[in-house]
Amino acid sequence: MEDKKEKDFSKEMMAYALKNAMEFGKADASKVLTKLFQHGLGKGQIKEVMPSIKETVEKVNKFNQMDLKIEFLKYKEFSIEHEEKEKTLPELPNAKGKIVTRLAPEPSKYLHIGHALSFLLNYVYAERYKGKCKLRFEDCNPEKVSKEYIESIIEDLKYLGIKYEDVRYVSDDMEIMYDYAEKLLKSENVYMCLCERDKMQDLRHKGMECECRQFSKDINMARWKEFLAGKYKEGDAVLRLKGNMQSQNQVMRDPVLFRTIYKKHFRHGNKYKIWPMYDFYNPIEDSLMDVTHILRSNEFEQRVELQDLLKKLLKLKTQTIVQYGRFNVIDSTTKGREIRELVESKELIGWDDPRLVTIKALRRRGISKETYYVLVNQVGLSKHEVNLDFNMIAAENRKIIDPNADRYFFVKDPVELHIDKLPKGVEFVSLPLHPAKDKVRNVKIGKIFISKDDFETNKGKELRLLHLFNINLAKTKDGKSEFTSLANKDIHKVQWVSEHVKTKVLMPDAKWIEGIAENGIKGLKEGQLIQFERNFFARFDGFNKKDNAYEFWFSHK
Ligand SMILES: [Zn+2]
Repeated sequence: MEDKKEKDFSKEMMAYALKNAMEFGKADASKVLTKLFQHGLGKGQIKEVMPSIKETVEKVNKFNQMDLKIEFLKYKEFSIEHEEKEKTLPELPNAKGKIVTRLAPEPSKYLHIGHALSFLLNYVYAERYKGKCKLRFEDCNPEKVSKEYIESIIEDLKYLGIKYEDVRYVSDDMEIMYDYAEKLLKSENVYMCLCERDKMQDLRHKGMECECRQFSKDINMARWKEFLAGKYKEGDAVLRLKGNMQSQNQVMRDPVLFRTIYKKHFRHGNKYKIWPMYDFYNPIEDSLMDVTHILRSNEFEQRVELQDLLKKLLKLKTQTIVQYGRFNVIDSTTKGREIRELVESKELIGWDDPRLVTIKALRRRGISKETYYVLVNQVGLSKHEVNLDFNMIAAENRKIIDPNADRYFFVKDPVELHIDKLPKGVEFVSLPLHPAKDKVRNVKIGKIFISKDDFETNKGKELRLLHLFNINLAKTKDGKSEFTSLANKDIHKVQWVSEHVKTKVLMPDAKWIEGIAENGIKGLKEGQLIQFERNFFARFDGFNKKDNAYEFWFSHK
């Protein structure tokens, strides 16, 4: 006991604080504490060590990414698990012969990160086994699907670097679907149901069959022909499978396989009026496309029984199904219908609104393609539900973009400084474009501005204008200040701007902040990712002529 009490954990604290800050952007005292238990810290010592942990964390949180990396090299040996194991996806079951996976989106919305990860899983496995990844648009609901969504999905797949073969539209296979339906009519496994919707729901709920189930094959076939010819109004007739009305699995209680939708289809106009349901066309298409492996989240679990039955009745090819925990997106709506309404009512600025996690929104905020690949290796095929939130996305993205993001200064709500005792000859300074690179940006020094926030919180204190010099801010309101020294001291450092252009940043809450940025940003290319030094990463979105402002989208800290 005596020994433990005397043990000094300062090096371990430092190691974990640095590691924590590198991974999550900021170190967290409680996370550092947890790690110390592995080094023999007793529960009784928490009170004793907490102050120094907090102190260490505070110190570390002032470091930039580069400082963190360098410091961590010094302390690495004091942390367990310092060699991070690279996470990779497990082998696929039955991975013999030619592997064929598929992407099967319904083109009824813009895709979000959950879709992206699920697509990547299918794609990455096809690549790993030198197989094929095929694309199929499940466009069987003319009320929901559109060309706009098809185009958007194709664009997203291109952005994600997903290569696919055999683009197929389920709506092109309607004749095949009808043939399969007729097979089931002939084998008396289906029937035409003319019950009202409410009655049908009620009987299903009670586990009771309706009278339609008793009609003969001939009557059913005749009604089916009328159904196909469009003789029934929407909702007046449906084709149902003879499942099991008493099944615990509600999906099995005589599910509807076909219904009438009169709305014009974007691809086929009014050619078809009878459209198959998901559970019907899905196994047929997988069979037609020679799919060997289906990787999908376990939210489809209840449908497996029904699809298996249809596969058996229709003698379809079977696949190896690999289920994983679904990806939940936290803190952001992913419901297509909800987003569509918010976009239409202008509450969201579009499908790329920064409050969303659609691929388009994340892309515009500067989330790199590589981040998706890292995430899919981390969360793919997990048996449990995976909660994805923006912090998780940001933590990976930061590691990827930091080594290449050049640094610039941005000052929000600028306040001009009037600096006394300024040494002569400070007309130009060379600032590092990136802490790890030799390249510099040359900045002409004229009037100097800092942000109102920095100004207010540092009045009466000495602070360092980053990479420039130190000043003492007077307590007055007029920006009066005095040069103190050039030496890089351990004092609060702030961004400053001299020659500048008007700059706006769209924040995660979709509100703009305004300020000025150094002239150097004029040379940025649209879409380029940069860091407003020590502050946040941002993606240059373009120059807004009307506003005469350079516009950025906030990525993350
Ligand atoms: Zn009925």
